Amino acid sequence: MALLNQYHKPATIAEAIQLLGRTETRLVPLAGGSRLIGELETRVRRDVDGVVDLSGLGLSYIRAQDDELCIGAMTTISDLIAHPVAGDLAGGILRRVARYEGPVNLRNAATLGGLVAAAEADSELYAALLALDTSVVYDGGPHPQPLSQRTGRGEPESVDDPTPLSEKNGPERAAEELPSLYEAAVKEAPKTLDTLPPLSHQTGRGAGGEGLLTTEIRIPLRPLTSGHARIARTPMDRPIVAAVAVSGDGIERVVLCGVAAHPILDGEAMEPVSDFKGSAEYRREMAAVVRRRALVEAKGG
Ligand SMILES: Cc1cc2nc3c(=O)[nH]c(=O)nc-3n(C[C@H](O)[C@H](O)[C@H](O)COP(=O)(O)OP(=O)(O)OC[C@H]3O[C@@H](n4cnc5c(N)ncnc54)[C@H](O)[C@@H]3O)c2cc1C
Repeated sequence: MALLNQYHKPATIAEAIQLLGRTETRLVPLAGGSRLIGELETRVRRDVDGVVDLSGLGLSYIRAQDDELCIGAMTTISDLIAHPVAGDLAGGILRRVARYEGPVNLRNAATLGGLVAAAEADSELYAALLALDTSVVYDGGPHPQPLSQRTGRGEPESVDDPTPLSEKNGPERAAEELPSLYEAAVKEAPKTLDTLPPLSHQTGRGAGGEGLLTTEIRIPLRPLTSGHARIARTPMDRPIVAAVAVSGDGIERVVLCGVAAHPILDGEAMEPVSDFKGSAEYRREMAAVVRRRALVEAKGG
């Protein structure tokens, strides 16, 4: 069981921000819990005193406004793809890639706000949002920021290091070595307030001025076509590498998964890692393949 000293369920965004901004205690947003609860239960995250449950903030909605689709951060992945406009965007790219985002019970719980905060390296849905030029509203503020400019990863750097275990420990550790590796990791984990990363790293506030809380995401409504290509160990496994492309309305954009700590726009620096799924070299080469395939499909080839 996770040891949480505090549970808060605010009724307003202002109250949630006030709680998340507290400096004497470490509170993090709790959305669908599909990632956070597991991290707390398994003690992967030890930096948390309590959670701020976002379910009372009225952030579960999808509405078309002007030429954008405005989606509350607590909207689940299932609700997103069931929505007639969202599900059909750019030839149905969100619906198409969302089926790879874990099993259906996870998609029923996982929220868009949680997905954006987690920014998992191989998230094809995050990649599709990036390709569609999604912007993010923080703290209920008036000025959305492009997802492409997001710098915060929403995770404490020293606790959730994206370096794969294979790189840290070497890929071929004998099973009997694992307990001592675990002991060493526990010793290294931050234990006191003084050794913890700053709050800015714990709640999603990035160097680019992102807020404490993602409250809404906005997707432009444009007449686009899309393409998607992936390489995975099995058809429904999470990808080793994948690409999402959109084309039309004067736009041609490709986003790559599996080649950096989070999905990146084509042209951004790749920093692939070697892990049990494939070497960095393999990822680089396959990224070029999925990129080409996704783009050809998006352009109707
Ligand atoms: C079996 C399994 C399979 C998975 N498969 C995938 C996958 O294929 N692709 C993928 O991307 N992820 C996957 N995940 C990870 C996870 O489900 C997703 O990242 C999910 O979208 C998290 O959403 P959530 O609402 O459950 O967030 P939570 O678990 O509640 O929170 C996740 C993180 O985001 C923060 N957070 C949540 N909401 C906000 C907000 N509004 N503002 C600021 N910070 C916020 C939390 O504090 C926490 O750090 C998987 C998880 C499991 C257990």
